Amino acid sequence: MTTRVIKNISELTTNDPSLGVGVTGRLHDAAIVIDDDRVLWVGPNAESPAADEMIDVHDSAVIPGFVDSHTHLVFAGERSEEFEARMNGTPYDGGGISSTVASTRAASSNELRAATEKRLGELRAGGVTTVEIKSGYALTLDGESRLIDIANEFSDEVTFLGAHVVPPEYVNDREAYVDLVRGPMLETCAPKSKWADVFCDRGAFDVDESRAILTAAKSAGLQLRVHGNQLGATGGVALAVELDAASVDHCTYLSDDDIDWLRASKTVATLLPGADFSTRADYSSARRLRDRGAVVALATDCNPGTSYVTSMAFVLSIAVRDMRMDFDDALWSATRGGAAALRRDDVGHLGIGARADVVILDAPRAAHLAYRPGASIVRQVIGAA
Ligand SMILES: [Zn+2]
Repeated sequence: MTTRVIKNISELTTNDPSLGVGVTGRLHDAAIVIDDDRVLWVGPNAESPAADEMIDVHDSAVIPGFVDSHTHLVFAGERSEEFEARMNGTPYDGGGISSTVASTRAASSNELRAATEKRLGELRAGGVTTVEIKSGYALTLDGESRLIDIANEFSDEVTFLGAHVVPPEYVNDREAYVDLVRGPMLETCAPKSKWADVFCDRGAFDVDESRAILTAAKSAGLQLRVHGNQLGATGGVALAVELDAASVDHCTYLSDDDIDWLRASKTVATLLPGADFSTRADYSSARRLRDRGAVVALATDCNPGTSYVTSMAFVLSIAVRDMRMDFDDALWSATRGGAAALRRDDVGHLGIGARADVVILDAPRAAHLAYRPGASIVRQVIGAA
């Protein structure tokens, strides 16, 4: 086991209030000592102990690795024409999710593996060290099982999303598809998944269908997450809270009741501003959530249709500029908030004993992540992804 001391850190974000100032546990002129797995020591630069190796960051900022708690990384094809048409306001019917389902079904496992690896590389280069990956672009028993196998090659946070949309061959028999998802498909996918997710919204699954799938998944031993309230106040938040889901994601349309339910629960509100950006939708009310005491996470929602985003820095830029989050709140939400959305306490912070997922920035302050949109200021990423 090799120990490393990272020295001359101008600004160290630990997200551990016992180690520094505020919710971000911030220290200045600091050092941190890690081994291959864990954080061993955090404190003033002048007091840093010796270690086997030394990394001098020359007055740069250091943050915990980002926790991207919502991605759809395993897919084939791309939908840039759909994006262009949406931005231009011109009609376009390329099939939406169904077109990605068709491309993904047709792709070989090696093609899907290579595409997933490339996207994960982009996320990691931008500082992501923990990533959740969903299935959801096959929508057949064997196909979903294959996507979950591939996702498992890249992450421990694998989510079964057979209930992404009703596939074309079931549009006239939704009930049969719901029965497939909560029956044989779940039975095959549950043993190799940690999570189950349902797109509970207009055009996807209604609250009763979602509840039927999620309760079956819970009985099969999976933990729950929900896509909810993206396209309207369609009941996803209430359902997520009712079923003790770890997270309800999107939350673009929220009533005061929704926020009160979230605050009184252990369910995290995960905001996906990349999706709102790429669909030119309204942004979620991050400040309302925070002011009323709900826990907020930020994630990329990397997917080919509505958020082909692999940069958490870009997400932070939107969160700060357009959602009016304080930078420190946004950074916390993209790290410790993401960890909370995965019910993890070993990642998303640099407290003693946390996983040694450390991001060294090419900037004196972490706020440069939002202040310099489009620039890649991540210099080095240490730890898993
Ligand atoms: Zn999504």
